[in-house]
Amino acid sequence: MLKGKTALITGASRGIGRAVALRLAQEGMNIAVVYAGNTAAAEETARAVRETGAQANLYACDVADDAAVCALCKRVAEEMGPVYALVNNAGITRDKLAAQMKEEDFDAVLDVNLKGAFHFIRHTYTGFLRQRGGRIVNISSVVGLMGNAGQANYAASKAGLIGLTKSIARELAPRGVTVNAVAPGFIDTDMTRALPDGAREALQAQIPLKRLGAPEDVAAVVAFLCSDGAAYLTGTVIPVDGGMAM
Ligand code: NDP
Repeated sequence: MLKGKTALITGASRGIGRAVALRLAQEGMNIAVVYAGNTAAAEETARAVRETGAQANLYACDVADDAAVCALCKRVAEEMGPVYALVNNAGITRDKLAAQMKEEDFDAVLDVNLKGAFHFIRHTYTGFLRQRGGRIVNISSVVGLMGNAGQANYAASKAGLIGLTKSIARELAPRGVTVNAVAPGFIDTDMTRALPDGAREALQAQIPLKRLGAPEDVAAVVAFLCSDGAAYLTGTVIPVDGGMAM
């Protein structure tokens, strides 16, 4: 039963993270909404969460900042109790062909997408050990499985998340904590709306189901992984991609 338990979702102000927040709130979970700086969007997510009857607390934090994540995790534990479901979803892109990609473009994407997840796992780890249960879901990408021209930094961060997922899954399995990854394909959010029209259409043509995914398509799978029904899945990577990566 998820009712009354706490979910911490990074990047919950917009897109996939917002949809996950609403879906877990519908299951009765209280939501720690972590976001970078878009307070108006985070407040809108919190309002929608509260409409379901669940609690929503807002936490602005750069996931790349380990000390800030440490302080945030302490605050969440004090204000909302132990985190039962951690969803590492915050992510950015800085696309360029590798020859043009600066080291800072590479580092920034790795710092948010990969180290951000590590920071949250590190600072909730003891709480998970104490609970002897819980769920961690890392949002990877189909690009982490297939690679993508112009996204060497992003693909490396998302492939790295898969190794992180499997390692932490092995560490926490004896305590009944499951750790899984979801690998979305092309989902209709601000991230993909930034693509030029031609690129979106070309991508859509490669998707067997012939449409971009909705954030809710990903949220449904994350909610399943957080549920009691997923108790015997750990260390897996579930594609939610309309068949792209098969
Ligand atoms: P959006 O660009 O729509 O939203 C990004 C979210 O991450 C926002 O809530 C943003 O906060 C937050 N965020 C960004 N940087 C930081 C940071 N440094 N610290 C804290 N929060 C941060 O992204 P999507 O919903 O499209 O993507 C969500 C995840 O899914 C990402 O990890 C992405 O890589 C992955 N994904 C997305 C796909 C897609 O097609 N959209 C496909 C595959 C994977 P704020 O609003 O404050 O800026």
